[in-house]
Amino acid sequence: MLYTTMKLLTPIPYFMLTHRYLTSKTPRVRFAPSPTGYLHLGGLRTALYNKLFAKSHKGSLILRIEDTDQTRKVEGSINALIQDLQWAGIQCDEGPSIGGQCGPYIQSERLDIYQKYISKLLDNGTAYRCFCTERRLNLLRRDAMRTHSIPKYDNRCRNLSFGEVMEKLNAGTPNCIRFKLSSECQFFEDLIFGGIAYDVSINEGDPVLMKSDGFPTYHFANVVDDHLMGISHVLRGVEWQISTTKHILIYKAFGWKPPEFGHLPLIVNADGTKLSKRQSDVKVEDYRRKGVYPLALVNYITLSGGGFDHVPGAGIRLKSMDDLAEEFQLRKISSHPSRLNADLLDECNKLEMRRRLRDENECRALVATLQQLVKCSYPKEKLNVSQEHVKGVLEWATARISRLEDLVTDKYGFLWILPSNSDLAEINKDLLEKLIPVLESLSNYDQIHIKQNLRDFCTENNVKFPILMKMLRSVLSGLAEGPGVAEMMQLLGKQQSLLRIKAFIK
Ligand code: GLU
Repeated sequence: MLYTTMKLLTPIPYFMLTHRYLTSKTPRVRFAPSPTGYLHLGGLRTALYNKLFAKSHKGSLILRIEDTDQTRKVEGSINALIQDLQWAGIQCDEGPSIGGQCGPYIQSERLDIYQKYISKLLDNGTAYRCFCTERRLNLLRRDAMRTHSIPKYDNRCRNLSFGEVMEKLNAGTPNCIRFKLSSECQFFEDLIFGGIAYDVSINEGDPVLMKSDGFPTYHFANVVDDHLMGISHVLRGVEWQISTTKHILIYKAFGWKPPEFGHLPLIVNADGTKLSKRQSDVKVEDYRRKGVYPLALVNYITLSGGGFDHVPGAGIRLKSMDDLAEEFQLRKISSHPSRLNADLLDECNKLEMRRRLRDENECRALVATLQQLVKCSYPKEKLNVSQEHVKGVLEWATARISRLEDLVTDKYGFLWILPSNSDLAEINKDLLEKLIPVLESLSNYDQIHIKQNLRDFCTENNVKFPILMKMLRSVLSGLAEGPGVAEMMQLLGKQQSLLRIKAFIK
């Protein structure tokens, strides 16, 4: 609703803006999550685009934990967040557990800094102490609801005299510190959305900067830290765009130059609907658990998030982090919501799996993971998970599957275990018995030779080829459909194919 009051002015062409940072010293950007839970896709996109921006301009990425709202803090989420970022290949240059010259990088460890800076605003008269009780604020809210007006603080304590303030302080009355909002339209050039003008005071009363418990609010800590940490560009989600003019007013109150701001559009489903936190598809951790590779996820985000030249019909190319940084252009990010297309994620994962298979070390790791996966999926079975078989399966599978986990589903279970259900087709055991020596004599067990020999066998025995294929498919895989029979036989290998046929006849 608040957005309707934001007036979009004519965007300033990007080329007029770029020189401002490209010619200045190298950029410093930050990712500033609140540890309120898991890292979700939107957060990952923000971190990634900050990383790409920093990397492409040889700048630095700072990780700052914004935990001033202690009531929303979730235990363990800082570590989980750091792990998710590491997993995704997003390395920060400064941050908690990395260090740097502007630490501490966790806001709850910077309370003395905020005290020092809030005093400056109290001293210069741009902030004031507010003694209003929660009860009074609730009454104001209820009143506003009754009269259908915007609920906002009425700035009453702005007008307390020095004497009144001292009296309340001496009496130990709890108080917070509020910022004196000026009622004028603030303007800034959003690097993605263009010119934005907004008068915060239309919708808000004087905002709290410091709570009565001595903790700063997000807005205050965010501004102080961005300034003290030398942040040159703030790239964050569009949900914060509404707060930016308020932040600019706080910068002005300090006499500081604000950084550049760019807001990343919303990420939405393919049909334009909002991503829901209840859907499992927002947690980075869930993607990882489902067998999505980090580079695939990162590429997937960039495919919907924009920021790159897009050649229509050019197909998908999996890009390394270096390639992405080199090709990234802030001005190519559209201000329209970024639509996710889940098919592209599968495509990216497939490409990444192929890339890994081509690399000797990564291929070894892939084989080991699949061996483990198969053993865990069929713990009671006698399995062939030899290096050779597993690698052969992987090479065959990359054209068909997008995750290793697909290979232990019902569809592909035949690759590892003897099918239990072979009664799908009518099976002529005598015929199969006759086929055994034919297969045994094959020195070249590849699908072309297998197929040719099966055809000859059919002619000699006066059996229709499709009928034999149907029987073999049943015996070998327990499936009514799937990969070509000769292909399947090559994949299983001579020994395993014969084993299955013989076991069936018995
Ligand atoms: N702490 C805010 C969040 O978790 C970050 C806002 C910002 O980047 O300024 O979304």
